[in-house]
Amino acid sequence: MRSLRLVPALLTVGILLLGCSTAEKLVDRVADTGSGSGDRVLYLTFDDGPGGDTEKYLDVLRANNAKATFFLVGRNLESRHELAKKTLAEGHVLANHSWNHTILTNDGDEELSRELDDTAKELQAVGATGKCMRPPTGAIDPRVKKALDQRGMTSKLWHVDIGDWRNPGVDAIVDTLLSSAKPGAVILMHDGGGDRAQGAEALAKALPQLVAQGYTFAPLPGC
Ligand SMILES: [Zn+2]
Repeated sequence: MRSLRLVPALLTVGILLLGCSTAEKLVDRVADTGSGSGDRVLYLTFDDGPGGDTEKYLDVLRANNAKATFFLVGRNLESRHELAKKTLAEGHVLANHSWNHTILTNDGDEELSRELDDTAKELQAVGATGKCMRPPTGAIDPRVKKALDQRGMTSKLWHVDIGDWRNPGVDAIVDTLLSSAKPGAVILMHDGGGDRAQGAEALAKALPQLVAQGYTFAPLPGC
């Protein structure tokens, strides 16, 4: 039953972070994550890598016995197979975040297929066999969902966008991480797509505090 109380709490956090205009979209996201167990588990997810800061995230996760899900952009993965294999070998899960980080709902059918399939092939090439996909910016509609369904892929969105991609400063990211932690929450951060050093530094500060609160960190269920 605890998961039922989680949703309003997360909605409140999300609405505060994102503004009321996006509240409706957030409801879809919450409904789509399919998580929310009552355990004190957090689902850390990192988008847009692999990138130049990914190693820093791996170091922090290893130091805190934390496992996470990395949603990779195919064009970034293409030149970083060894880093992706290392991420897998350390117990994390790799998943699909499109090839070019396009807004899938704007793609034509052929482009949409390429975004999904080329990235899936690249993931298979490094040994990742999961079927989870996160559409860039969370943009999904019935046509995109059908394309995912046809491939046996599942969309995985998030409860809380930490806003690390804005580079608001390490302390601000730490505060958001600590205040967003709720049992079963799916946390969105980024290890690629720009300079992500702040997020790694913030994670290094926040994770020991969350561990002290009894949290554990697991890959997204079903990925
Ligand atoms: Zn992204």
